[in-house]
Order: sequence, then structure tokens, then C-alpha cells
Amino acid sequence: MGRKVLVLGEVRDGAIRHVSFEAIAAGKVIAEGGEVIGVLFGESVNNLAGEMVAYGADRVLTVENEKLKNYSSDGFTQAMTAVIDQESPEGIVLGHTAQGKDLAPRLASKLDSGLVSDAVDVNNENGNILFTRPIYSGKAFEKKMITDGLVLATIRPNNVPALAKDESRAGDVQPIEVDIKDLRTVIKEIVRKTAGGVDLSEAKVIVAGGRGVKSADGFKVLEELAELLGGAVGASRGACDADYCDYSLQIGQTGKVVTPDLYIACGISGAIQHLAGMSNSKILVAINKDPEANIFKVADYGIIGDLFEVLPLFIEEIKRE
Ligand code: FAD
Repeated sequence: MGRKVLVLGEVRDGAIRHVSFEAIAAGKVIAEGGEVIGVLFGESVNNLAGEMVAYGADRVLTVENEKLKNYSSDGFTQAMTAVIDQESPEGIVLGHTAQGKDLAPRLASKLDSGLVSDAVDVNNENGNILFTRPIYSGKAFEKKMITDGLVLATIRPNNVPALAKDESRAGDVQPIEVDIKDLRTVIKEIVRKTAGGVDLSEAKVIVAGGRGVKSADGFKVLEELAELLGGAVGASRGACDADYCDYSLQIGQTGKVVTPDLYIACGISGAIQHLAGMSNSKILVAINKDPEANIFKVADYGIIGDLFEVLPLFIEEIKRE
């Protein structure tokens, strides 16, 4: 029979974030052949609904309302509650992003349900949904099975593979009206700390710098490599504290958690708090002049050397290909 599952599509800068397509794939596992319904909120989102269908949503509900132009806990909780009242879903999946982390617990509280957050894997075992999620800053994984009631979960970006995009998939798009009461907080302006580029938490390649980069200027060579590889630049807290880069780039226990295919750590010692944010990267390359640096204990490939000599060689080689 299957379940009816809602998947919230997260819209940023007029586009749906890739983690939402990954959430559709997770939704399919939970639905067990039931219906996966994409949900989009914003000022102008009807034109984006087709993409959710192309990634596997069977139907998409859109709510266009100027009060939903930017994310707010208040506005999105009201809108999501209205959609839940209309659809009575048996599953809800969101990305484990700043938005998902804020909204999912509110929904769990409103619906009096449990919540599995930050899942990196979703499986169906005889109709029960089995999630895998990291604990103790990624040092161990726990498995949680939901055997009854609403399946509410957030999934970590870059872990559950999205279905292949197929523009020929068919699915209904249904714009609906939701009355959003006056918001208690209104976002007046969004000030960006970093310039455009690839989103750090969704990047497939990250070139990260630590205190070994020595200056803000030193980060330029990392930026060049990241751009060539279609990736993003990240940093250790050491580099952020030293004012070489903005804290929005910080990866680790008190920064962002990332899971790229390739993580290149440059001049980063490998403190446990940094590893907490990136140790689940698929391939870790470390460049450090200290052969005893802790980062080499976890690296797949280690290069003992000066990053300012090694990175230009990387760049030269990539440009040659
Ligand atoms: P360092 O430890 O100083 O290492 C610099 C490295 O660069 C050295 O290994 C050196 O050999 C190498 N190096 C120097 N010059 C070169 C060169 N030219 N070429 C190649 N290598 C070179 N840290 C985080 O990163 N993220 C967090 O979220 C975080 N949260 C924290 C939370 C708490 C509560 C605490 C107490 C700490 C936290 N930290 C965090 C800080 C963490 O403990 C480390 O201090 C920090 O990660 C060190 O940054 P680093 O590796 O850049 O600097």
C-alpha cells in the first residue's frame, strides 16, 4: 500500500538545493511505492516544481506567498502545518540544513512525533524504516528503526544519492493557498559573508586551509584550486581565529559538517574538533610539512611538504589536462 511522504524543497537564490533531491530519494524508500509529494514555499516557486518531479516526486504542492519569500520558523511552520493538515502524511523528509534543523523539531513537537535527525542512510526493512546517523562527532554510527507512526527525518547533504534527473517523469503540480498570519519576525535583508560559488555543505570537492596558510592572501591559491575543481573553500577554526577567512567557512565541531567526495586539507593539523566536521569525507588528501601531524592518521593520501609548493603543482597539472 505504501506511505504518503512529504518532502520539503529548500529554495535558495531562485533554485532548489540539491539536498532536497536527495530527500526525495529518501522519501521514495520511506514511501515503499506510495506517494512522494514535493512541497515548495516561496514568493515565486511554481516554475521550480517540475524539477522536483524530474527527481522523482509524484506530485508537487506549491504555496506562493510573499510572507514565505525568506525562511522564517514562524511562516514555514504555519505553511507546513497547513499542508500536513491537508495531506495527513505518514512520512516527512527535510534536508539537514540550517532550515531543516530549525523546522523539523518544531514539526515533531506540533505533531507529537519522534524525529530522526542528520541521517546518512535510509533503508526499508520489511516495512520498517531503518536510519543510520553519526554520533559522537562522527566517531560512531547508530541505527534507528521506526516501526510505527509518522516517519519524520532530516538527511545530511551528500549522503543519500538523488535519483537520476528525468525530465520525462510526469507529476501533478498543485498551487495551493495558505493563510499565513502576521509573522513575529521579518527578515529585512540578507547580508552574504561569502561571495556566491559552490555551497560548502553540498560541495563535492572542498579545499580547506588551516593556520598553515598563514594569511588571507595565502588563501588565494586554495581558491584557485577549488575553482578549477568546481569545489568550495573551507577552513579550520585556527584559520578563522587568525582572521585569514570568514567564520562562515569554518568546518568542524563548532562549524559546518561536510561530506564531500574529495577533501584537501592544507596546513591543517587535524585536531579532533576539526575532524568532527569532515572525517566522513570520501577521500581525504592532507598536505602538511610536519610528518607527525595528526591529520596524516586519518588521510587517505598524505603529502609531506609546503602547501605553497604543492598546490601550484596541482594547479599546473590540472590546467595541463
Ligand atoms: P594548527 O593546529 O596550528 O595547525 C597548523 C598546521 O599547519 C600544522 O600542522 C603545521 O605543521 C602546518 N603547516 C604550517 N605551515 C605549513 C605549510 N607552509 N605547508 C603545509 N603545512 C603547514 N577547530 C576547527 O577546525 N573546527 C571547529 O569547529 C573547532 N571547534 C572547536 C571547539 C572547541 C570547544 C575547541 C576547544 C576547539 C575547537 N577547534 C575547532 C580548534 C581546534 O582545537 C584546533 O585548535 C584547530 O582546529 C587548529 O587549526 P589548524 O589545524 O588550522 O592550526
